[in-house]
Amino acid sequence: MISCPNCNELNSNSFQICKKCGFILQDKIANLDFFQTCWMILESPTNAFNKILRAEHKNFVLLLFYGLISTIIFIITWFNASGKNFDNLIYYLLLIQLISIVTFLPLGFVCALSIYLTSKIFQSKNSFINCYAITGWSSMPLLFYFVIFVPIGLGIEGISFVSSFTSNITSNSILFYGISIIFITYFFILLIIGISSLFGSVGYVKFVKSFIIALMSLSITIFIAVKILNQII
Ligand SMILES: [Zn+2]
Repeated sequence: MISCPNCNELNSNSFQICKKCGFILQDKIANLDFFQTCWMILESPTNAFNKILRAEHKNFVLLLFYGLISTIIFIITWFNASGKNFDNLIYYLLLIQLISIVTFLPLGFVCALSIYLTSKIFQSKNSFINCYAITGWSSMPLLFYFVIFVPIGLGIEGISFVSSFTSNITSNSILFYGISIIFITYFFILLIIGISSLFGSVGYVKFVKSFIIALMSLSITIFIAVKILNQII
């Protein structure tokens, strides 16, 4: 919370002007720089999300949605051992890329909309565009995971890696399980921090609310992604 230097009113960290007297609390932000914002999320996620909420243009959200949806699609095919339907790793990678390219816009929209609607249940007064920006930017680790670690993991292990989920365990695959768990947990924590920055109030009740909202919205998105994938693979 920011205390207004003019009237002492407590304002949410994302507010640009005091809600009581209109005093300017923080500078205006027009655009977000990609690497600077990524770095800020790493260093101080709460400040980063407040900056994202204050930014006039929510840059890079679509690119980040691509990271979110392609990771969800990759994880589902991994759990389902979909790799066994392919003779070749290249075909598998091309297909999941193609599915990601076609679905990341509608599924990213569904995820942000679910966050917007479920946060309404908890009386959040936030705009859809803020929920949309929060969903996108919390997916930052997943973009790096999908673009860097998934190709490395698959390159080392080959198609057999996505052909069975639990059997065929090697030290490489254990390393890859570990990396996947770290990235996904990191994303989930960022999403909770992001959603909680949508609530003006302070305290750990908002973290519980944010946890429930994050879990519900992701479940809806994953459920739809599973339905789509069942039709294709
Ligand atoms: Zn004031």
